[in-house]
Amino acid sequence: MFVVLRPGCTSEQRNRLVRAIEAAGLRARVSEDHHRVVIGVVGDEDRLRSVALEAFDGVERVVTLKKPYRLAAREFHPADSVIKIGDRAVGGTALIVMSGPCAVEEESIFQAAEAVSAAGADVLRGGVFKPRTSPYQFQGLGKPGLKLLRDAGRHVGLPVVTEAMDTRHIDLVAEYANAIQIGTRNMQNFALLKAAAATNLPVLLKRGRACTVEEWLCAAEYVLNDGNDRVILCERGLVSFDDAVRNLLDLSCVPLVKRLSHLPVVVDPSHGTGRADLVPAMARAAVAAGADGLLIEAHPRPADARSDARQALTPETLERLVPQLHAIREITRGTPFAGVPGT
Ligand code: PEP
Ligand code: MN
Repeated sequence: MFVVLRPGCTSEQRNRLVRAIEAAGLRARVSEDHHRVVIGVVGDEDRLRSVALEAFDGVERVVTLKKPYRLAAREFHPADSVIKIGDRAVGGTALIVMSGPCAVEEESIFQAAEAVSAAGADVLRGGVFKPRTSPYQFQGLGKPGLKLLRDAGRHVGLPVVTEAMDTRHIDLVAEYANAIQIGTRNMQNFALLKAAAATNLPVLLKRGRACTVEEWLCAAEYVLNDGNDRVILCERGLVSFDDAVRNLLDLSCVPLVKRLSHLPVVVDPSHGTGRADLVPAMARAAVAAGADGLLIEAHPRPADARSDARQALTPETLERLVPQLHAIREITRGTPFAGVPGT
């Protein structure tokens, strides 16, 4: 349930509502942008049945949502959320490019950082705890990799993002990274989501490989409900019957989710296709669909990459691609992807 306040309502009117909601045993989360104050009511709404919130001074309307998520909903926060990773903004008018190797490697991470930075990337991304399908595949460098990643980011002046797979690693990752990635296999690992939320770092939440949009937004809700409003959604492809590509990249979810939610949406065409030759086209398509950014795997020498070699772009391809992405963003800038039916 949301309580939408009238423009120009006083802080006393707002506080009275918050107190009434809390007195009924629920929590009130206030969302405020330049033109609206909305109070999100979190908890068992049945307890508010005897409290006529509509009758409070300053209330314009009370909206009851038949959705299992609230704080992630556009109704709660009508404007696009803009989230900072280091000094880079995600969401709003910006287009963010996160790039780097699938796995941080001692011998190549500095070269990778220089290459993605020269290509125009905004964030360096590399895994040190790798969720590999087989236990015999390279599992990542672990803690030493975190330090390498941070130092490589500092070397080129880029913030860094990396995945945490385990609640026991969250604090360690938070010490070195500017944002925490939650991978597709862990989208519904609620303990991990809560631990990531507690760091107050931005959470890059990948969509589960067989999860619905609603389940994805509910996963985001776990982070938001724990008081961390810095969630960035990432579409990375779904399992399908067809093994022609690694996953089926669901680009229609981009304008859909931007309509349902205020959270930024980025797209990962690398895992979405599994093939370097398909990545540029799908990256361009993602921006045209309204994505707020891209997550693209790149490696100074893709053939030598210790993980996901087939989908890594060369620095040269990345360098040609990034200006194209910005050009497409420029064309579509201001297009109301959200909130206006039929556009
Ligand atoms: C990754 O980003 O390297 C990764 C393992 O992604 P996903 O969780 O989408 O498979
Ligand atoms: Mn990968």
